[in-house]
Amino acid sequence: MSREYETVIIGGGVIGSGIAYHLSESKSDGILVIDKNFPLSGSSGSTQAWVWVHTKTPSWYGEFSMYSSELYGYLHRKIGDIEFIRTGGICPFFSENEREHAKSLAESQAQVGIEIQVLDRDEVLAREPALSDKVLGATYSRIDGNVNPMRLVEQYMKAAKINGVTYEYYNKVTDIEKKQGSFLVTTEKGLFTCKNLVLSAGVWTHEVGKMLGLDIPVHPVRGQVMITEPLAPFMKYTLDGLRQASNGEVLIGYSREEAGFDRSTSLDFIGSTANFALALVPDLAKAKIVRSFSGLRVMPKDEFPILGPIPGIENLYIAAMHSGITLSPLAGTLISELITEGETSIPIERYSITRFA
Ligand SMILES: Cc1cc2nc3c(=O)[nH]c(=O)nc-3n(C[C@H](O)[C@H](O)[C@H](O)COP(=O)(O)OP(=O)(O)OC[C@H]3O[C@@H](n4cnc5c(N)ncnc54)[C@H](O)[C@@H]3O)c2cc1C
Repeated sequence: MSREYETVIIGGGVIGSGIAYHLSESKSDGILVIDKNFPLSGSSGSTQAWVWVHTKTPSWYGEFSMYSSELYGYLHRKIGDIEFIRTGGICPFFSENEREHAKSLAESQAQVGIEIQVLDRDEVLAREPALSDKVLGATYSRIDGNVNPMRLVEQYMKAAKINGVTYEYYNKVTDIEKKQGSFLVTTEKGLFTCKNLVLSAGVWTHEVGKMLGLDIPVHPVRGQVMITEPLAPFMKYTLDGLRQASNGEVLIGYSREEAGFDRSTSLDFIGSTANFALALVPDLAKAKIVRSFSGLRVMPKDEFPILGPIPGIENLYIAAMHSGITLSPLAGTLISELITEGETSIPIERYSITRFA
């Protein structure tokens, strides 16, 4: 016996839960999210969670990120407290070459409406006195901020469930078939049928795609993050590479490592990250590091989101991307528009999986 749904979403991380919530706002019946673990067990529970825009290039990708970031204020009011703070973002530089790069970044991003100021040394230190006095300047934009990823996913799920969405946890999808216009989704705990199927399985999207004969070019890239004890508030802005969370902890990390699905942490990373942090914010020398964690970045082959319908298989959609915290409100909105209206309010052809054909 199979259970029938209109739409099944595979993967309940920030992307799958974001889609479930947005879809349930327009179409509350028959939505099921299936997760092989629990929805924060993947990348969404091991992330820095900046809502970051201003250094995203090319500018069309910056613009896409900006649209998503602009949805956060509204989302915060709709689903409840997600600790979203638009702190403003600072990307410091330490050489004259980088100043030139900063100026051209500001010019190209201005063309899509992202406002960036190139600050000189005194200006950046006046804004963020915790920064090293070796800094030569920085790019600054008011658009950037951060969010609590645990709360974000939790509140998406809560709001989706109130709208009638069903969640299946600890239930792995093991096979998918398409028969007579319906998807048959086999899981460890039974069979489901649905008209629409969304693949939002993060770094496992490649594995899930194989069940439909697809070769989806997504792979894991490990990122490690180091965390200090809670400190009295001393940093106001989200910096490129570190930020102080609202509970006082400083999250430090930027690593990108090809390590397959290995989520261990490593001493070489801790050493280089500590040096990076001290070069940026010398006062961190006094802070105690209390833990580190690693997560898997969901990395499409060309690093840009894969988003939209999958041609050749009707009613099949994909949403796989790095920077999924920044992009989840927009990805949720767009996939929901595709399912309910067959088109999106902004063009997304650039993000189609067909670019890898
Ligand atoms: C160290 C680090 C720092 C980052 N920093 C930022 C940042 O500052 N800003 C930002 O925007 N982004 C950041 N990211 C990226 C961001 O965290 C991810 O893009 C985002 O979390 C991806 O969400 P997701 O829902 O696609 O994946 P996931 O959260 O991994 O969710 C996928 C879900 O699919 C489920 N699943 C997989 N296979 C199956 C199956 N067969 N059956 C059922 N369920 C299945 C999994 O259990 C999982 O829960 C960072 C990532 C890392 C690792």
